[in-house]
Amino acid sequence: TGKKAFIAGVADDQGFGWAIAKALAEAGAEISLGVWVPALSIFETSYKRGKFDKSRQLSNGSMLEFVHIYPMDAVFDRASDVPEDVRNNKRYAAAAEKGFAVEEVARNVKNDIGNIDIIVHSLANGPEVKKPLLETSRQGYLAAMSASSYSYVSMLQHFGPLLNPNGSAVSLTYIASERTIPGYGGGMSSAKAALESDTRVLAYEAGRKYQARVNVISAGPLGSRAAKAIGFIDDMIKYSYENGPIQKELHAEEIGNAAAFLLSPLASSITGTIIYCDNGLHSMGLAPD
Ligand code: NAD
Repeated sequence: TGKKAFIAGVADDQGFGWAIAKALAEAGAEISLGVWVPALSIFETSYKRGKFDKSRQLSNGSMLEFVHIYPMDAVFDRASDVPEDVRNNKRYAAAAEKGFAVEEVARNVKNDIGNIDIIVHSLANGPEVKKPLLETSRQGYLAAMSASSYSYVSMLQHFGPLLNPNGSAVSLTYIASERTIPGYGGGMSSAKAALESDTRVLAYEAGRKYQARVNVISAGPLGSRAAKAIGFIDDMIKYSYENGPIQKELHAEEIGNAAAFLLSPLASSITGTIIYCDNGLHSMGLAPD
């Protein structure tokens, strides 16, 4: 209750970021968002037009509210990192005054909110995700790492100093980091492996420096906007249902609840870990009959 959370990676009400926002709001936290610049105006318009009203309803009858909504692009650390063509893009130009690089967003959060307790990283991007690793370009691979892994390092660098003691951070990963998932290409499997390894190192460093905890949730398949763009999500959901220990659909709300636990004092001894929220699929070694 009364905790302040910053969540990066919400652009509609379908993904994990939204579900985490909702679970944290249910627990009494105040939520602010970092929304990817190209998705910001449609998100704000949809929000204002009431498109999310149904999914904004909380169990006590109130509505999920966002204290602040910031434009953000987690592939840029500083304003000076933004290349000319991006800077001149209509949407980015509109967000330039506020600033959308990670350092600028952290500065805005500090000015508007002050210290925070919770950092959520629920974003990923891999421009060549549909290409097998053997066909992935250097540029595509590095872009996946930049948006999906270094972005978490950057967030902890810039938002870490804003954390109150006993603060906590969570990001989202996928089992393709440790087992081969054909179709999850473009260096995205590599990016998730880096994210998981970095979680251990960041847990140590941010633990010592800020008394903060850093964890990552390995989520099962969900038909979010990002997942639909990869193209094989329906097959993954079916595979999980057929082969996992618990035969049910995975709901974003379940990941929201696990994140709320990990980000709360209930998880005060848990840091540097991967928590699997996948109906148990990760624990299987052989597909059942
Ligand atoms: P989503 O589309 O709801 O979320 C991804 C978000 O990332 C979007 O809001 C998008 O606008 C944002 N984004 C992309 N590039 C960005 C950038 N450069 N800067 C800032 N924001 C950026 O989809 P999701 O599936 O809920 O994804 C959230 C996280 O969950 C991702 O890390 C994803 O890899 C992970 N995950 C998803 C699944 C799944 O099956 N959906 C499974 C395991 C892990």
